[in-house]
Amino acid sequence: MVEKVLIVKYGEIATRGNNRHIFTGKLVKAIRKNIDSEGDFYVVKEQGRLIIESRNGEMDFDRIIPKVTPIFGIIAVCPGVKVKDQSIENIREVALNHMREHCSDKNYTFKVETKRSDKRYPMSSREVSADVGGYVFNSMDNLTVDVHNPEIVLNVELRNDAYIYSKLIKTFGGLPVGSSGKAVALLSGGIDSPVATWLIAKRGVEMEAVYFHSPPYTSEWAKQKVCDLAERLACFTGSIKLHVVPFTDVQLYLLDNVPHDKLTIFLKRAMVRVAENIAERENAQGLVTGDSVGQVASQTMQGLHAISSVCKMPILRPLSGMDKQEIVDIAKKIGTFDISIRPYEDCCTIFVAKHPETKPKTSIIEKIESKLTDLDGLLEKAVENIEVFEY
Ligand code: ATP
Ligand code: MG
Repeated sequence: MVEKVLIVKYGEIATRGNNRHIFTGKLVKAIRKNIDSEGDFYVVKEQGRLIIESRNGEMDFDRIIPKVTPIFGIIAVCPGVKVKDQSIENIREVALNHMREHCSDKNYTFKVETKRSDKRYPMSSREVSADVGGYVFNSMDNLTVDVHNPEIVLNVELRNDAYIYSKLIKTFGGLPVGSSGKAVALLSGGIDSPVATWLIAKRGVEMEAVYFHSPPYTSEWAKQKVCDLAERLACFTGSIKLHVVPFTDVQLYLLDNVPHDKLTIFLKRAMVRVAENIAERENAQGLVTGDSVGQVASQTMQGLHAISSVCKMPILRPLSGMDKQEIVDIAKKIGTFDISIRPYEDCCTIFVAKHPETKPKTSIIEKIESKLTDLDGLLEKAVENIEVFEY
């Protein structure tokens, strides 16, 4: 019997050593989460790769592949077939059918590459390649052999079962989530912060997200947008925990008690303080924001200094050196753009200064802040009332 399977390759280096089973376990979980709604599948661990198989024989690659390729730590996926009967006669036939199905639309150069983990197999890898290659070549007239630089590599892998595939679809790559610690991302509904979150998660950092919600100045729709962004990001990371912090009281208090042109800096410092508090509780080692140098008044070097100085943890700002268009391009590629541009503003105009300070002095900000006697209490109250969502 020939079964369609999706072969999933992951980065060997990132998953070496004792942690390997933890990372492969996480990959399996992430895959299952992304494909469960698509049918009745199971995932098998096979020496250095994962195999997605279907219980009822149905495997629609066009639907499954886009669900699997986003997951960080996976380096490629290969649509292929699995057979139990590893006799050379059967392998030849299955290989030929596979090539007919996938590679008969035009002329191709090809070669066969065989991997054989069962060393008792009666033929060497080289012999299998030559045999299968010769058979396929003689049966199809659009193929020529090129062992150095072929367009198609027909892979024959003889393991517990035999696997045959010819197409390797590269993914985003990245490191398996959790291999580089954990961070808390400040996720607004804008275009930038989801991209920043994605970039850091790509390097193997497990992410949690925090959103500061100020009803009625920010609507339920704005909050829903952030929830949808978190859900989208979870397709890449396997899961994301989103903390929604009620921030209205803090925001109104700052509005009444700090110079209006510096309000954004105080707001951001308050957000960072809460985010750091969450990070400490969740055993995270850093924060992530979507700041890009020079994009708005608070994102000057002076602004970033005034914001960063409120916190001990590193604040990662992967968009620091990117132009808006570069950020937009990534947002489109990862599917967050369309969610981000839904027209629900995340900031009411009463909190935005007409002429915001672009060169705040940290010492002055700190001096003003030290007189804000109610701030600590309001931040504590906000933290106590956090609402948590898991995606
Ligand atoms: P974005 O497109 O991510 O909203 P932005 O260009 O609008 O960013 P700012 O509004 O200055 O820039 O925010 C800078 C960063 O501060 C954001 O990228 C995000 O990380 C964080 N941030 C701002 N507002 C919020 C919020 N309401 N909740 C969580 N994080 C926020
Ligand atoms: Mg914004």
